[in-house]
Amino acid sequence: MAQFVIAGEPVTSVSGEETKVKNPSTGELVGTVPKGTREDVRRAIGAAEQGFKVWSRTAPGARGEILAKGARLIGENIEELAASLTREQGKPLKEARMEIRRFQHTLEYYAGLGKNLRSVQIPIAENRFGMVLRLPIGICGAIIPWNFPISLMGNKIAPGLLAGNAMIVKPAGTTPLTAIRCVELLCKAGLPAGALNVVAGPGSTVGQELLENPKVTKIGFTGATSTGIHVMKVAAENLKHVTLELGGSDPLIVCDDADLEEAVSAASVGRFFNCGQACLAIKRLYVFDSIYDRFVPKLVEKAKRLTVGDGFNPSTRLGPLHTDDQRKEVEGQVADAVQRGARILVGGKRPEGKAYECGNFLLPTLLEDVPDDAKLAQEECFGPALPIFRVKNIEEAVERANNSIYGLGSSIYTSDLYKAHYAAERLQSGYTWVNSPQIMFDELPFGGWKQSGLGQEHGWEALEHYTLSKSVVISTRPVP
Ligand code: NAP
Ligand code: MG
Repeated sequence: MAQFVIAGEPVTSVSGEETKVKNPSTGELVGTVPKGTREDVRRAIGAAEQGFKVWSRTAPGARGEILAKGARLIGENIEELAASLTREQGKPLKEARMEIRRFQHTLEYYAGLGKNLRSVQIPIAENRFGMVLRLPIGICGAIIPWNFPISLMGNKIAPGLLAGNAMIVKPAGTTPLTAIRCVELLCKAGLPAGALNVVAGPGSTVGQELLENPKVTKIGFTGATSTGIHVMKVAAENLKHVTLELGGSDPLIVCDDADLEEAVSAASVGRFFNCGQACLAIKRLYVFDSIYDRFVPKLVEKAKRLTVGDGFNPSTRLGPLHTDDQRKEVEGQVADAVQRGARILVGGKRPEGKAYECGNFLLPTLLEDVPDDAKLAQEECFGPALPIFRVKNIEEAVERANNSIYGLGSSIYTSDLYKAHYAAERLQSGYTWVNSPQIMFDELPFGGWKQSGLGQEHGWEALEHYTLSKSVVISTRPVP
């Protein structure tokens, strides 16, 4: 059985109960983890209080060196970590490796900032100057979903630790194992006891205690918009800081002057990477009428060629949905669209055969003639189904793309600078990719607009969200 990490030590739960972790491809048991309680979180908070005293007083450059060593340890163990991630999450091994590398890169990026932090000195008056300091907030909770359990943890703990905070990670109930192993490795890199802790257990108890406990001063949350709204309400009770990375329904616009091959590839990767279970996935596709009949058959052919299967099979491009409930939700959205007149171009059902019987598999699915009021157009679709819409021009494309409660990411393929600029300025989202697949960069700040979130992760900006600003006034004597 895996153990929590509290004060740098492996620890079990006071509950004496355990949670079973299953492989979404086979249904097999892959491991167990203690079922955490509120009391376990309070123990982690006690450890974090001690850890904070030491870590917040460690120089940022030295903090960075420890994070850099942690990144090296992650890199040295990439095969073990990627296999563990594929087993508990279901994603193809190649994508699991990419996720671990991304985590390593995030640690390296913030490690590098450690020696580059600057503060501001402002001359105010004669013999008096001001300084603006940025200081760690204190104990921060990191609440993580199951779709990218490691990279999304990295987006919180890397800036949070570099800034000098103590962190408590709460992984998703179904993906605790790889996260625990990563925390163990980072502790081995030399973090003081209690600077980084992990407690697994239900959101309703372990997560809720992090939200309610007044000793926790910041929550970094990634998950569904409905949960994010709950997080913000509870955190408001004691005015905690929150960063919320929530749901999305990203549009991709393909213009008449786009490179069609590149746009097909971006639509396919954008929708089917991680079996469509990505916040930043292409979830609505708007194609110009004049190229629609050339573009769509190419995308259909591409979708037909994607191999669905166990993440450990090297030919697999789409693993299973993470849970059966997740699959049923996507199937329900597809059925709703069909009932409202949509046509399935490819997929729309589960793959058949013995190899698929025990996993939560679903074929890559493309639909057209989906009405704008269908669930697939309105809700977030967290799986491999993509509605394709015809549009006349850039104005209509942007207007319909913006007709969503979400505003996470957006993309456009065009060779016309005017259209690219028109879209980049008007699309309501925290990120716009122009002629580029949806790749995240640690260097660029990322945060959702509208109901997709609050605050930002990545970049220098994430550090601001893990620090408090303090103005200091210093009077000096005139130089004799
Ligand atoms: P979720 O149901 O909101 O769960 C996310 C995390 O919150 C889990 O660790 C969950 O614990 C915990 N939680 C649940 N109830 C809680 C409570 N009352 N108090 C504190 N924590 C609680 O999200 P999900 O279904 O795992 O993930 C899918 C969603 O995440 C999608 O909407 C997706 O778009 C979004 N997402 C957003 C981003 C982004 O960067 N914007 C990235 C990835 C995913 P349990 O697992 O124990 O329930
Ligand atoms: Mg959920």
